Amino acid sequence: QIALYEAELERAHGQMLEEMQAMEDEKNRAIEEAFSRAQVEMRAVHENLAGVRTNLLTLQPALRTLTNDYNSLKRQVRDFPLLLQETLRSARSEIGQAIEEVNSANRELLRKYRRELQLRKKCHNELVRLKGNIRVFGRVRPITKEDGVGAEAASAVTFDPDDDAVLHLSHKGKQVSFELDKVFPPKATQEDVFREVQALVTSCIDGYNVCIFAYGQTGAGKTYTMEGTAANPGINQRALRLLFAEVRGKAADWDYAISVSVAEIYNEALRDLLGKEPQEKLEIKLCPDGSGQLYVPGLTEFRVQSVEDINKVFELGHVNRATECTNLNERSSRSHALLIVTVRGLDRSTGLRTAGKLNLVDLAGSERVGRSGAEGSRLREAQYINKSLSALGDVIYALRSRQGHVPFRNSKLTYLLQDSLSGDSKTLMMVQVSPAEKNSSETLCSLKFAERVRSVELGPVSRKAELGSWPSQEQLE
Ligand code: ADP
Ligand code: MG
Repeated sequence: QIALYEAELERAHGQMLEEMQAMEDEKNRAIEEAFSRAQVEMRAVHENLAGVRTNLLTLQPALRTLTNDYNSLKRQVRDFPLLLQETLRSARSEIGQAIEEVNSANRELLRKYRRELQLRKKCHNELVRLKGNIRVFGRVRPITKEDGVGAEAASAVTFDPDDDAVLHLSHKGKQVSFELDKVFPPKATQEDVFREVQALVTSCIDGYNVCIFAYGQTGAGKTYTMEGTAANPGINQRALRLLFAEVRGKAADWDYAISVSVAEIYNEALRDLLGKEPQEKLEIKLCPDGSGQLYVPGLTEFRVQSVEDINKVFELGHVNRATECTNLNERSSRSHALLIVTVRGLDRSTGLRTAGKLNLVDLAGSERVGRSGAEGSRLREAQYINKSLSALGDVIYALRSRQGHVPFRNSKLTYLLQDSLSGDSKTLMMVQVSPAEKNSSETLCSLKFAERVRSVELGPVSRKAELGSWPSQEQLE
């Protein structure tokens, strides 16, 4: 049993030694492995270190320049406020000097501008004085279907091809010639007519009062010239368009307000065609401020800013006029239609204010109704028309011949337009005639009226007595 155990022990001891040897081998292998790995890693670290070292070597000069830059920046930052102050000081003084120069140049310009304005007004007045501030134009409408056919519709009017101020009328077998300031033949367009009146229209922007009258027998083209048609508008529409354009062109320096009134004078009663109560009769009154200016209390004034606005105003005027009477055509031939445009301006740089009024008047028909046995209301209308057209002639005559007394108060029309007919205001009489043979005696009357109005201008003041007083409508005939 003991030998058995000893053998067993011997075997176990051998086995243990074997295992110990194996473990020893294992340990040595692991150590060797770890050593060789460590060696490899060590090499890599060495290599890295060398790279870092070369990097450091190249970074050093960069760092040096950075430090330099930083130092110089620090210096600049320290010096900057001083430098800035210095620059600001010199810039400020330069700017101040420039402003002073501009200011004095501006003052000089403003002075010159004011002088120029005065000069312009003076020249204008002189021109008006030389040309006479009342101009008389004639316009002959074309023959229309209403003139009929044959001899009746033949043209009794002829023109001078070399002189656009002359026209000839054949009447009862005789040829009579008339000289006006300008004559528009039938082929003249609305543009042609407007071209000749536009200077007058724009002068109301400069503060002048202007009257443009269309005179003539019914059917001679007064309304065509003043109102025109939708496709071919007349002076009224074109004048407002022009005023808008002119005012827009001056908007840099001036503030303008344009307003319009539309009125009618029928049987010496003045009515507001833009008012709520167009049937109400309006009175013309002296301004209570003692300026001698006239005004019409209650007359509606519409501020207009665009072509759409004027169309609306004209439309309203038409509607009110049409509802006022049974026959618009008849009514319009027996009443005076007025479009009154007021242009108020303010020059922002000089504070100068201007106010000009443009009165566009489509007069009642000048035909002599009273003579053809008219009765009742027709006769009354005719008498009123006759009276107011004669009064207009009287006023123009008195103004032209520079008489001390001008009978403005003899009719509503002349009283209303008093401040637009007197002083340095300007008047254009557009005498409308029909060329038709059958109208030749009315045409003769209208042209005589035109020539009379004009002849006062041509006559020097001393001829006053010789001319006598203004002839009545009947005497004209
Ligand atoms: P009044 O207002 O003097 O009574 P109108 O202006 O109504 O006359 O003119 C009468 C007619 O003649 C209208 O049909 C109008 O269209 C036409 N007429 C007038 N003048 C001209 C013209 N220059 N060109 C074309 N037609 C015209
Ligand atoms: Mg008419």
